[in-house]
Amino acid sequence: MYNPKSDNADEFICHEEVLDTLAFADKNKNNKELINSVLAKAEKGKGLTHREASVLLACDDENLNEKIFALAQKIKQDYYGNRIVLFAPLYLSNYCVNGCVYCPYHAKNKTIPRKKLTQEEIKNEVIALQDMGHKRIAIEAGEDPINNPIEYILDSIETIYGVKHKNGSIRRVNVNIAATTTENYKKLHDAGIGTYILFQETYNKESYEQLHPSGPKHNYRYHTEAMDRAMKAGIDDVGLGVLYGLESYRYEFAALLMHAEHLEAVFGVGPHTISLPRIKKADDINPDDFDNGIDDDIFAKIAACIRIAVPYTGMIISTRETAECRERILKLGVSQISGGSKTSVGGYFKPMPEDENSSQFDVSDRRTLDEVIKWLMECGYLPSFCTACYGSGRTGDRFMEICKNKQIHNFCHPNAIMTLKEYLEDYASEDTKAIGYRLIENELKTLNNTKIKEEVGKNLVKIANGERDFKF
Ligand code: SAM
Repeated sequence: MYNPKSDNADEFICHEEVLDTLAFADKNKNNKELINSVLAKAEKGKGLTHREASVLLACDDENLNEKIFALAQKIKQDYYGNRIVLFAPLYLSNYCVNGCVYCPYHAKNKTIPRKKLTQEEIKNEVIALQDMGHKRIAIEAGEDPINNPIEYILDSIETIYGVKHKNGSIRRVNVNIAATTTENYKKLHDAGIGTYILFQETYNKESYEQLHPSGPKHNYRYHTEAMDRAMKAGIDDVGLGVLYGLESYRYEFAALLMHAEHLEAVFGVGPHTISLPRIKKADDINPDDFDNGIDDDIFAKIAACIRIAVPYTGMIISTRETAECRERILKLGVSQISGGSKTSVGGYFKPMPEDENSSQFDVSDRRTLDEVIKWLMECGYLPSFCTACYGSGRTGDRFMEICKNKQIHNFCHPNAIMTLKEYLEDYASEDTKAIGYRLIENELKTLNNTKIKEEVGKNLVKIANGERDFKF
């Protein structure tokens, strides 16, 4: 029985409700009147239900689809402006006891070199990340209670926050580790993590159990109810995602939004971010072995419909995607991207020899962070290294409140300008600097609050003079 407020995953992601939603979407996919009324509702920026959004996703009328894409772009502009926040993943360990059939870390894979970073090695990775200019990272690890216990993750977080190299610092550590207990989520919360990210992989219980045949991750309910435990433990910001390619994308889309509705219904705040990963080639994984792969057009449609359905939830696209694909999806609503990423354990400090390749998947966008920053600016975006919301306690419902009132511009825009200035001074190539300085001048003109403008102007001078003691 479908119940968004239930604490049972079988009820808040009710299979029958997903099937009914898909049937409703099929029946109405060319219902112009309904779709126009859904779009009119969405234009108010208050979001859509999973049923309404599923109709938009199913729609194959060219004119209506154009409207859908245009609205996604408008919402993106209204809520996020031209800012794009940067981050990088940091792989700590690829030891894993699970049997996930799409992931090369699965326990039966005997070909992938297993690696776990020591705290000294983590320091080196962090220094390398800081030298690129990163301020925000997402730590990643396989699930292995012996090799990667929670104490190891907590020590690693402490090490990461503790590294102060030249002008660098990691100001926000997001965490992408396997579902765990409420007690462990409390420990992560106390360690000062940013967002807790956990991809559902698939919401279809039957497929989920087949795709995760062994290990603790096999337990569908434990995995699907993880965000409830995390939020009960005090973690305000959680990040959802499905791995596209495993199951039918329309099923995943409806269920993902039901998950967001569930969190909103129970905790008064939806997910902080939604990631959009697609399955990629990896050590012993061939994406063609999975039947539900989606092309770039469908991928773009999903991004647009998510943007419209949950306007105040950040959207993330990683280097799994090519530069070309990222450029297309960015304008439809993405607010965060990774840059200069390595998906191997220990890949930043020292390039990996081929036979030590411990990567989780092949990255398609292999550009350096500097190249990504330059490209973003050439495409008209304002790269941001800001982590101020987190630093000032603007998380969870407090963040959402500001975001829903479109007030986030007053915080994010000035901070994006100032953190870009820091990046340009400390890490950018000459070409990137030249474009960046021009961009900052133009962005300053768009600040229409005189007090904020003055403040930013003063801080830019301080940054140019080497001051770095800011809470961005
Ligand atoms: N081990 C943690 C867990 O069980 O949730 C999460 C960390 S894992 C390093 C991060 C994510 O990478 C997974 O949740 C999965 O969606 C994604 N992933 C795994 N194999 C992949 C592949 N072949 N291509 C693309 N993404 C993949």
